[in-house]
This record gives sequence, C-alpha cells and structure tokens, in this order.
Amino acid sequence: MTTLFIADLHLDDARPGITTLFEQYLGSDEARGANAFYILGDLVEAWIGDDDDAQLPARIAAATKGLRDAGVPVYFMVGNRDFLLGEAFAERAGMTLLEDGTVHEIEGVPTLLMHGDVLCTDDVEYQAVRKQVRTDAWKQQILSMPLAARRAFAAQARSDSKSRTGRIDETIMDVNQGAVEDAMRHARVTRLVHGHTHRPAVHEFTLGGAPAQRIVLGDWYDHGSVLRIEPASVELRGLKLP
Ligand code: MN
Repeated sequence: MTTLFIADLHLDDARPGITTLFEQYLGSDEARGANAFYILGDLVEAWIGDDDDAQLPARIAAATKGLRDAGVPVYFMVGNRDFLLGEAFAERAGMTLLEDGTVHEIEGVPTLLMHGDVLCTDDVEYQAVRKQVRTDAWKQQILSMPLAARRAFAAQARSDSKSRTGRIDETIMDVNQGAVEDAMRHARVTRLVHGHTHRPAVHEFTLGGAPAQRIVLGDWYDHGSVLRIEPASVELRGLKLP
C-alpha cells in the first residue's frame, strides 16, 4: 500500500491550472487507492478564515471531501500561509487536523510530520513573528475583522513576505540541521517528512548511530509534486500541469 503526501501548493486564483491539477490528482486512481493522504501545510497562498465565502475554499473542500468519501483518510497540518484554517473548515472538507510535530506510523515506520518552518531556526526574525501571530489573541483579533478587511490584510502580508524573501540570504531560509536532529531525537524517530522550504529531496544521515532520513516535499508552482511512501520505497514525483 501507498501513503501520499503533498504540501506548498499555494493555491491561488492567480494560478488556476494548479487548482485544477490538485482537483484532478485528488480524484485520480492513485489518490483514491492510497492508505492515507497527507497535506502538510501551505495548501493555499493565503487563508483568511473558515468563513471565507470565496470559490477556492469551496473547491478545495469538495476535492478533499470527495477523497475522504472514497474511503481515504485525509490529514491536514497548517503551514505559515494557512494557520488560520480551523476545525470548522476541516470538518466541512472531511479532513483531520494534525498538530505540527505529530508522529504517525507511515507504512510501518514511525514518522515525524512537520510543516517545516519551525526548523528554520537561523531565521530569527521569522521565528519571532511566528511566535507572535500564532497566539490565540492575535488569531482572534484577525478573525474578528470583516472579510474584506482580512482580504486586504492578507494581500499586504503577501507583498511584505515577497520583499523580505528577496532580500535575505537563501541559506538562512533553509532548515537548521541541529534543529532537525533535536526534533527527531525528541520524537524518537528516524524519519521526518516536511515541506515549507520548497527544496524537494531525500536527505540521508546518521542519527545516534542509526540511519535517518529527512524527506522534503516540493512546491506546486511550475508543476505538482507528490511523495509516495511504500513499505520498501520512498519516491518524490512531479505531476504535469493539465
Ligand atoms: Mn510554508
């Protein structure tokens, strides 16, 4: 059997082909035949609340609910773009929310699942902002704003983020190996799957004398990207745009 993982789709009305690819893939025989389907954050470019009445959230919910109704458990972990996604939408979308840092047994191997942003500890400025915006008080303050104001706020946050990522050193936006090893030791695992950095790869290293693996999911910009884990194999694969 196969377990499937995706992350960093950054679904957005500006890139309709990616949304279509997402819908097609969730309806494919491969997805419908999986043991389980995991979405590890940044499914959308911006999430402004579960009460968003736009078309995109409705299309996402229809796709994930369809997969769930076909008998495949769908798990969702928030990323830094969609951390306002909550239980109300998850329920509508047939998804089970996972805390960042959950360990699930994947095809026989205990596996640590993360979005990946907390591992980027060299980016001190980002970690400080992250801490601030993940408080219940901050989230409540945003969610109490009218939808139109939240849309404007999200657009501003995206343009701020773009100008920031353009000016800081690439290496500080990757994970810190020490943070990776600490997280894996703490979770008592030898396999980690995460997204966020948009640097798809399977990294092999040694952890406490044992072989360990960090698998990084790819983004969905020029094409789709899926991780397939089977009992004896790990494969990152691209998906062509329709
Ligand atoms: Mn991210």
